[in-house]
Amino acid sequence: MDNIEKVVCCFCGETLLLKDAVILSIQINIQIGETQQLFCHKNHFIALIDKSIPLHPDLFDEKIQNI
Ligand SMILES: [Zn+2]
Repeated sequence: MDNIEKVVCCFCGETLLLKDAVILSIQINIQIGETQQLFCHKNHFIALIDKSIPLHPDLFDEKIQNI
């Protein structure tokens, strides 16, 4: 996997570098074991998740800033 591979943000449709993307693994329901990976900008993920949901602290780490 190279560092210049690009993916599409599932929230805004813009492209971003894979290395900068938050990766969302989606399992449609508990019976279906397959997962789909979606990608997004970190800021879009943080903005769209309800504030009551605890998020991984690395999402707020300035050293891992990607946007
Ligand atoms: Zn986006």
